[in-house]
Amino acid sequence: MGVTYNIMFSQRGMMMAAHTPGQMETATRIANAMQLNGVDGRLMSGTEAQNLFPLLNTSEGARYKCMGGVWQGRGGVARHDAVAWGYARAASDLGVDIIENCMVEDLIIQDGRIAGVETNRGTIRADRVGVTAAGATPGIVALAGAELPILNYALQAFVSEPVKPCLDAVLLYLGTGTYVHQSDKGELVFGGGIDRVPTHGQRGNLPAQEAIIAGLLEMFPPFGQLKMLRQWAGVVDVVPDSSPVIGPVGPEGLYINCGWGTGGFKAIPAGGWLLAHLIANGEHHEISRPFDLDRFVTGRLIDEAAGSGISH
Ligand SMILES: Cc1cc2nc3c(=O)[nH]c(=O)nc-3n(C[C@H](O)[C@H](O)[C@H](O)COP(=O)(O)OP(=O)(O)OC[C@H]3O[C@@H](n4cnc5c(N)ncnc54)[C@H](O)[C@@H]3O)c2cc1C
Repeated sequence: MGVTYNIMFSQRGMMMAAHTPGQMETATRIANAMQLNGVDGRLMSGTEAQNLFPLLNTSEGARYKCMGGVWQGRGGVARHDAVAWGYARAASDLGVDIIENCMVEDLIIQDGRIAGVETNRGTIRADRVGVTAAGATPGIVALAGAELPILNYALQAFVSEPVKPCLDAVLLYLGTGTYVHQSDKGELVFGGGIDRVPTHGQRGNLPAQEAIIAGLLEMFPPFGQLKMLRQWAGVVDVVPDSSPVIGPVGPEGLYINCGWGTGGFKAIPAGGWLLAHLIANGEHHEISRPFDLDRFVTGRLIDEAAGSGISH
């Protein structure tokens, strides 16, 4: 990258915790899959987890008593804004024009192929167009008569008041989907799965909030004393098989890269590179080929719900 930003993880690792024998089996499979793919994840015992997270609920009546889980010592939380700005600066240095506050309002199609876009700031002509508008992608490609199997859901996040350091690794509970880490400022940042009902509203609903907060307090009862500072929701674009869609759509020269759901931050560097390959060459890279829209015609779906549903 052309500019150095602080995107370092401030946590000393990440754990996916299990509280039933069935989840321990899932954790074992995840750790094995990681190792088979050269990733240094490993199984962690319940005792190790309790040493690492001393505030974990170990009481007799604990509903989600930690039995152990998967540990990845290089995992943590990257600063998403720093990453996005780092990419933007580097792209700008390489000669990419970035036009801010510019909304695509229509597609220009001539002789059956894409010829550009109409925006609120004027016309941009191009013989190849990539649409990476997440939940707005279906609406944009609909301008060319194409339909996408994508639904939008709210995904919420929460921040508590700041407290002294008490959690120096990221914890995600397999059973509840609730995850939590402590920010450099001392706030607890936590969240969980998507809201149940599809929506375009960026608010989030109370039942999901209750489930996520209940999960957090079962894990760490002392956090119940904290005040919550803020909560927000973003809209995530979800595909039925929970995998992204990368490939051509509609008129010749139009491409999409969307459907990243709750896991697109970590995946977009690779996804963006694959879209660039597709636009430059007019054909898939072998990695993006299975993610083409045609999988909904051939039936070769890529069911990644377990991997991408709530993986933060
Ligand atoms: C609360 C929350 C927590 C999350 N946590 C994680 C996490 O821990 N790890 C992880 O990997 N992912 C996480 N995600 C998911 C991640 O943010 C998304 O998967 C990712 O941002 C998708 O990237 P994208 O580039 O496809 O779309 P986006 O980042 O949504 O970008 C789409 C862009 O298109 C623009 N746009 C829309 N319509 C138009 C138009 N008509 N014309 C021009 N531009 C348009 C939008 O303004 C936007 O800038 C989280 C999401 C939320 C909401």
